[in-house]
Parts: sequence; C-alpha cells; structure tokens
Amino acid sequence: MTLLVSAPAGYQEERRYVLGVVLGDWLGLDWSLVTHERPDVRIGLAEDPDGAAVTTPDALFSTAPDQWLTDSALPSRPLPRRRVGQAAAGVLDAEEQLPVLYGGSSPPSANLAEQCEQGVRLDVDVFGSAFAMLTRYEEVVMAAARDTYDRFPLASTLAFAEGFVESPVVDAYVALLAAALGRVWPRMEFRRHRYQVMLTHDVDDPLSTVGRRPRMLARQFAGDLVRRRDVGLALRRVRAVVDARRGRYDTDPNNTFEFLMDVSERHSLRSSFYFLARGDADPAAPRYQLFDHPWVQDLMRRVHRRGHEIGLHAGFGTYRDAAATAEEFDRLRTAAEGQGIAQESWGGRQHYLQWRNPHTWRNWGAAGLKYDCSVAFSEAVGFRTGTSREFPVFDLLARTPLDLVEKPFQVMDVSLFGHMSLVPDDAARATLRIAQQCRRYGGTIGILWHNDEVLRTAREKHWYEELIATVAAL
Ligand SMILES: [Zn+2]
Repeated sequence: MTLLVSAPAGYQEERRYVLGVVLGDWLGLDWSLVTHERPDVRIGLAEDPDGAAVTTPDALFSTAPDQWLTDSALPSRPLPRRRVGQAAAGVLDAEEQLPVLYGGSSPPSANLAEQCEQGVRLDVDVFGSAFAMLTRYEEVVMAAARDTYDRFPLASTLAFAEGFVESPVVDAYVALLAAALGRVWPRMEFRRHRYQVMLTHDVDDPLSTVGRRPRMLARQFAGDLVRRRDVGLALRRVRAVVDARRGRYDTDPNNTFEFLMDVSERHSLRSSFYFLARGDADPAAPRYQLFDHPWVQDLMRRVHRRGHEIGLHAGFGTYRDAAATAEEFDRLRTAAEGQGIAQESWGGRQHYLQWRNPHTWRNWGAAGLKYDCSVAFSEAVGFRTGTSREFPVFDLLARTPLDLVEKPFQVMDVSLFGHMSLVPDDAARATLRIAQQCRRYGGTIGILWHNDEVLRTAREKHWYEELIATVAAL
C-alpha cells in the first residue's frame, strides 16, 4: 500500500519533511505527494486514488509567504479543545480532549475525527501542527525571548501558556491520524514502537577534588555543612582531598560513575556519558574541566569497555559557534581514539541546554555529529518538541532537512530539584507522569542525571535506583 497525499501547492520542502517524519519514519508507511487545487490535505491510496480517504485541514502551510515565520503564523490563542471522537479511538480515548494548534474548523465539529461518506475527516492540521512543534517554529518567530543563559524561556512557549507541557501533543496527533487511517484501511500495517528509557549523564564535574584551589575546596566543605547539612559528606570530602593527593580518586563524592553504570546495567540500559571536551578552563571557575586529566581519559575507557556510550557535552557558549563545536568534537574523538575507543556515530548535548534555532542543530550536523539531545525545558520536565520519539531535524531558515537526529529528552535532575524545587517523592511522581505519557505512545523517556547531583549520599543513591527501576518496569 502506498499513500497518495494530495495537498495544495507551496511549502513543498516543509511538507515533504513532515510527511517523511510522520508517515515514513514513525508510521512506517510508503507515501508520495502530489499537488491538488482543494484547500485541504487528502490521504488516499495510490492504487485507488478516487476511493476512500482521510482528510485534514491545511492551515499552517496556507500561510501567505510574507507572513511565514511571523507572529501571524503562530496558533491563535486560546487554543480550542476538541473531543477525539469514536472514529479515532484506540490509543486515544474517544472522550479525551486535545488542544488544536492549527486547523480547527469554524463552526467547530463535534469531534476531531468524524466518519464521513469518503472515509474519516480530521479537524486538526496534523502535519502543520507537528511541523511547528518539531521545528520549534515559535522559537524562531520569538527569537528575542531569552533567559540569562540565552535560552528560550519555558514561560514563552505555547505549551506552557496552554498547559500541555507534560503532554506529547505531536504523539497524540499521530495516534489520531494512525487510528483514522486504520479505520479507513483496516489491513494497513504500522511500524511498532516500544517504550524505552534513555539515560544520559553530562560529565560537568568528574572529580570535585582535583584542580581546585584551596579556597574552592573550603567552599565545597562549607556547602556540605551549611547548605547540605551533611557532616558525613564533609568528612568524606576531606578524605577524598587527601586521597587525591596520593592519586586515589575512588572516594571523591563526584565519582559516581561505576554506580550509574551498575544501575543502568541492572535494567539492561545503555547509559550515555557526555564529556566536556575542553581542558583549559580557569581552575578558579566553579566548574573546572578536567578533560586532559589521565583519570578522566581512563574513565572514558571504562565507560566504553562496559558497553556504554561516550558523547560530546559542547562547552558553554558554543551553541552558536560552528568552529568551536567542530573543534570540541574533534578533541573528544581524538582523545577517545587515543584510548582505543571506536564508535560508529557520535552525539551529545549542549552544556546548560543552550540552544538556538536553527544554528545549534546546523552546527552539530556540519561537525559530523549524528544526534543532539539538548531540546528539553530546563525550568520543568516536559515535551518541548511535543514528542517522545526521535526525529530528523529541519532547518527553518535554510528550509532544508539536516543530517542530524533529535533524541527524546524530558527529565533533568536540575529541573526537578532546582527549578521546580520538588521534594524527592514529588520528583519521582513528576518523572513517572512523563514516563507514563512516553509509555502510552510507545516513545522514549530521556533522562539526564548528572554524576555530581543528588547522588552524594546513600539515601540519594537509593532513591535514584528506585526511580530508574520504576520507569524501566513500566
Ligand atoms: Zn553541563
């Protein structure tokens, strides 16, 4: 079966990209695109072009060219909410309400999916809405909205304003579309997706005792006593400083790497460790990069030997610097190869989740990196791209797909305990809510856990183990 997608002229690159992701990559269907004179998108069968069809409105891609990437191409708020309807029930509940980003008809239909004479009519622009979320369209339109670290603030997102931060709205639309296609062609076979857990660890600070000036060590010690109120940790740190002088690093509070790998292996998960690839930072800086330290080089080898992944943690400020991105990736790969580490492909994440649309993606693709995993909210857990699936990315300004995949990433330790200020029980509940959404759509929960955050005490380690056991068992 090959789907014949008929759509109005215009935005051919954009249409092909999003059809390729939704129909090709995700649903596993063959498709071809032709132009028609009608104002909607019609999906029929190439073998039976006048037969049954699924239709959707064509809203985003009906934007006048001079309005493209301007405010007037953003969804009008407040977004309408519509019931799914019986014609698309399955993964989605018929009574469930979804926000409509683009394409709700006026007057509104009773349900998002309605059975009609020709097949099923969907009252949401599935492809335009998915395109806007996957390309982070609003982040180009509202390029001036930035926080202290030059990141797009959560508060400026449509998802936050409309309360769907914790729902993968693109996955819901794709489930709606798949249900409609399955209703019209019951023998259609879709690609199956299995829920997965992806654990990543940014190695900002591999050892807290090395390369530090005495004043910094004293500050850490004071932090243990005053802020963390943990005498045991303070004493361990003193011991670790003494040990480090003798070349022993196993007692360093930041050295949690074997523990992280043990937990992952217990659940047959492969962890990814993203290394900062600069060794020349100021030792007085709060995070002194130890890339050139022999212990860190050896750590890479241990990670690789145990079957986990090494990746790039591109340094602060590099998110808009193509040359620095390429140079850091080169340093990482050279160092890894020096340790006998050969990986077929490489990916990683920007330090501080700094990311500018589309420059950072462009730079990563140009450097030869295969995937990025930076596009999450730092202020909250949730779905910044609207999906729990990986997808190839699109350069909105150059109007072309890039040779780079964006991997799922929704939960970060710093968001849970820093920005959201959650107590451990609530942090576990928030993570589980995200995991359940990913599970529902056969997606992947992407978790970032730093080696030096919330793993300092036996209790914190136990909590982390329980969390991973819970999400892995879903
Ligand atoms: Zn970092």
